[in-house]
Amino acid sequence: MDQVIYFDNNATTRVDPAVFEAMRPYFCERYGNASSIHRFGGSIAAEVEEARRRVARLLGASFRDKDDHATEIIFTSGGTEGDNAALAASTAARPDRRRIVTTQVEHPAILTTVREYERRGYEVVLIPVDERGRLDMEFAERAVNDDTAVLSVMWANNEIGNLYDVAAFARMAHRHGALFHTDAVQAAGKVPINLEENEIDMLSISGHKLHAAKGIGAMFVRRGVRFRPLITGGHQERGRRGGTENVPGIIGLGCACELACAGLETERKQLTFLRDRLEAGIAERVPAVRLNGDHESRLPNTASISFDCIEGEAILSLLDRYGICASSGSACTTGSLEPSHVLRAMGVPYIAAHGTIRFSLSKFNTVEEVDRTIEVLPPIIATLRAMSPFWKGGGR
Ligand code: PLP
Repeated sequence: MDQVIYFDNNATTRVDPAVFEAMRPYFCERYGNASSIHRFGGSIAAEVEEARRRVARLLGASFRDKDDHATEIIFTSGGTEGDNAALAASTAARPDRRRIVTTQVEHPAILTTVREYERRGYEVVLIPVDERGRLDMEFAERAVNDDTAVLSVMWANNEIGNLYDVAAFARMAHRHGALFHTDAVQAAGKVPINLEENEIDMLSISGHKLHAAKGIGAMFVRRGVRFRPLITGGHQERGRRGGTENVPGIIGLGCACELACAGLETERKQLTFLRDRLEAGIAERVPAVRLNGDHESRLPNTASISFDCIEGEAILSLLDRYGICASSGSACTTGSLEPSHVLRAMGVPYIAAHGTIRFSLSKFNTVEEVDRTIEVLPPIIATLRAMSPFWKGGGR
């Protein structure tokens, strides 16, 4: 493919070349097992610990152990594992409680998993959202009670970019003796996270959303929180996650976290500028568009835009002809092209939900790419609307 304009960074990101270089020696040269006694393998353990400290620094986790080890960080295979492990650990830590509270707009890593708990007899309560995707705090106050084992609320939504007040939700959980977990997969590296400043018990992140490799992630488990491992086996990760460490992935994640830490403020400004330019450019040139989400509190990189009366998949395939990659708001994995659970929870009208496109940017995007998209998108929308039986020429 010629030039690709990649606006699908909430799906996955390009591995930063510096991350790739950091990982490279750990495949063919320094391939030892970090748990080995011999120096060839064992020396790698120190580098794994340094990567752990880098992850902790991005998250503002503390170093309280005598050797300055970031013992609150556990390496995982990614966001899905972290979310599953958090639910498993918190229900195990509160064995006499039968309620799990989460939100309607979580990633399937949480939503599908809590359905499994429901089949096992848990009562699952989902906090609803309003038309801008904001969570109903009053509902949440009523939902979290003394029978609640865990409250899990994502830090940032992957589809619409909304940021949620996880510090307030953590306090709410603790007022009832419940544990609090947050899926920070989309937040890490994009907005500041400081775990010293809140009461969050567990948090999960994923490497491939912040320019590290796929198949690596990390969890934060606050010191003192009882943690029963999801994956049992060897003594790796201080007995909290069995399995030989993914050393190249871990080293890469450490490097990506360090880069994210250093670049956070500059990138935040740059991404906000590009995202706002993209939204404004499209809204100016295309009639009947809706900009979804909470514009008072959202990620800097995510734009969810609905184009009335047409199909998102058709827009995507025409954009693809120009090498522009984005994603739609449909659960097309089901084959039904149903609007996504997030848009449905927000009550976005059917006619708009179907034509929803998510543009998610990264530090590698440029003004030229944004301007090119603003140029090619309006005629694509006009062409599709001209063929749409629902389009009446400007009105909704
Ligand atoms: N949580 C959120 C909010 C996500 O966006 C994703 C990935 O799309 C995940 C969890 C799953 O992460 P992973 O792909 O690392 O399993």
